[in-house]
Amino acid sequence: MFRCSSLGSGSKGNATLVQSSDTCLLVDCGFGLKDTQKRLETKGITPDQIDAILVTHEHGDHSSGVARLSRRFGIPVWLTRGTALHRHCEKIEDARILTAESPLNIGSIQVFPFTVPHDAREPVQFLFSHQQRHLGLVTDTGHFTQHMLEVLSPSTTLMLEFNHCRERLRNSSYPYSLQQRVGGQHGHLCNDQSLDVLLSDAITNLETVVALHLSEENNCPALVDELVKNIGFTKNFLIANQAEGCDWVDV
Ligand SMILES: [Zn+2]
Ligand SMILES: [Zn+2]
Repeated sequence: MFRCSSLGSGSKGNATLVQSSDTCLLVDCGFGLKDTQKRLETKGITPDQIDAILVTHEHGDHSSGVARLSRRFGIPVWLTRGTALHRHCEKIEDARILTAESPLNIGSIQVFPFTVPHDAREPVQFLFSHQQRHLGLVTDTGHFTQHMLEVLSPSTTLMLEFNHCRERLRNSSYPYSLQQRVGGQHGHLCNDQSLDVLLSDAITNLETVVALHLSEENNCPALVDELVKNIGFTKNFLIANQAEGCDWVDV
């Protein structure tokens, strides 16, 4: 078994499960303790099954629930030094430092953290591997670097940010400075950028894509679905939402 699921994704909170037959990882936790427990329950997971929490970066929608969950259930937390030093993460007791581009094994899952261009201290995203199957995860990045494409090239499943529609962001109620931040090189991926990733021939064994981190104000699932159909993408395609995330997906 090698599978993944989102507990919820968007600017109000993110958490992703990655599970093999003997190892269960939680990536990020931007939900309160009770909420997280409820969300885990809907996926058939109890907190004491989680072997480790990995944190991509310190933004509240990824880190706000990590310290309490970790402390309450004695779960170790892996994060970069830059993320660990940020005040959002200082209450994490069992913090273990990971380094971008240095693989680590947690149980039967190999974890490869890689650097992404996002406006945080030392952000990373991950490639998870188990028995020749590979899950790429990218929730927050301003653009896609050649390096990211190379790291993600073996992905059989890709969980990929589809943050906003460029037009909608431009016409949104967001102040100009926030529009610049979100749409900038160190902000979030717009639909066109995510579609370019699907269209690139760098990821040759891709079977399933899960769209993550859709903006509730500046994007919509129906639009993303239509855009993906329009480029002739015929692999499995799912969209995770803020309220429920998505069902389990076999990697
Ligand atoms: Zn972020
Ligand atoms: Zn985020």
